[in-house]
Amino acid sequence: MGLKIWMNDGLVDESEAKVSVFDHALLYGDGVFEGIRVYGGKIFEFEAHMDRLYRSAHAIRLEIPQDVKTLSKNVETTVAANNIDDGYIRLLVTRGVGTLGLNPLTCETPGIVIIAATIQLYPRELYEKGLKVVSANTVRNHPLSVSPQVKSLNYLNNILAKLEALDRGMFEAIMYNHQGYVAEATGDNVFAVRNGVITTPPVSAGSLDGITRAVVIKLARESGYEVREMDLTRNDLYVADELFLTGTAAEVIGVVEVDQRTIGSGKPGPITKELLEKFEQYARS
Ligand code: PMP
Repeated sequence: MGLKIWMNDGLVDESEAKVSVFDHALLYGDGVFEGIRVYGGKIFEFEAHMDRLYRSAHAIRLEIPQDVKTLSKNVETTVAANNIDDGYIRLLVTRGVGTLGLNPLTCETPGIVIIAATIQLYPRELYEKGLKVVSANTVRNHPLSVSPQVKSLNYLNNILAKLEALDRGMFEAIMYNHQGYVAEATGDNVFAVRNGVITTPPVSAGSLDGITRAVVIKLARESGYEVREMDLTRNDLYVADELFLTGTAAEVIGVVEVDQRTIGSGKPGPITKELLEKFEQYARS
C-alpha cells in the first residue's frame, strides 16, 4: 500500500494521485508550495507555514479554494492517515487545469495536493564536519521579477545554482543578488558570525522569509546573542568566524568552506552547535 495523498477534496491512494497535463503548475510552474516538518507528531510552526503559503498565493493572484482552517485540517488529516510521527509535509497549490496558453484566467479551480511522508536528511556526520559550499554564478531572481519571497513551483533559479554546487561535488551553493550581496543558499538561509555577533541578510536581499531562519533568530536573541539583519558580501562570508545555513530540511548546519576558503577553525563553530541544539530542543518541545 502506498501513501495516502490529499488531492483537492479528499485522500486517495498514491497510485491515484495524478495531476492533469493541462494544469498550469506543470505547463508553467504556476503555483505555490510549502515544505513543513513533523516532529513527534506535531506540525512544526504550522501557522507560520500556512501564513506564508497564503502570502505566496496572494502575491501571484492565486486564490486558494479552501480557507486556512479547512486546509490546515486537511493537512492534519493527511499526516494522521499516513501515521507520520517524524516526517515532512509537501503542500502544493497549483493554478489548475487550463488551456495551453499562458493565461491563468483560463484555469477555473486551483488544485490542492498534500503529501505527508518521511524525509531524506543530510547524513549526521555532515553536521559534525560541516558543509563545503561554492558561490553560484547564477544570480538570485531580481526582486522585481518573481520575488524570492514567493515560494513558487518554479525553482529553476535555485536549481541552476544547485547544479553548480553538484558539479563541484558539493551540496549547496551561495546565491548572490543582482547587487552582489548574499541572498541565500539554494534551499536554505545564510547566517554569518563575527566576533560573537550573528548576522544574516535581510529578506529584501533576495531570500525566502525562512521559517527556520525566524525561529533561529528568536532562539539566538533569547540566548543573549545580538542578531543583525544586514547586507553581507562574499568577503564577509570568507572572513566569518562561523557560517551556518538554516532550513526546514537542514535545520541548522555549519558551513566550513566557501570557494575553497576555510571558514573559522574549519569545523562547525560553538555558536552554530549551540543553536542547532537549541533548535532541536525547541522543535521537540
Ligand atoms: N530559501 C529557499 C529558496 C528555500 O526553498 C527554503 C526552504 N527549503 C529556505 C530558504 C528555508 O526556509 P524554511 O526555513 O522556511 O524551510
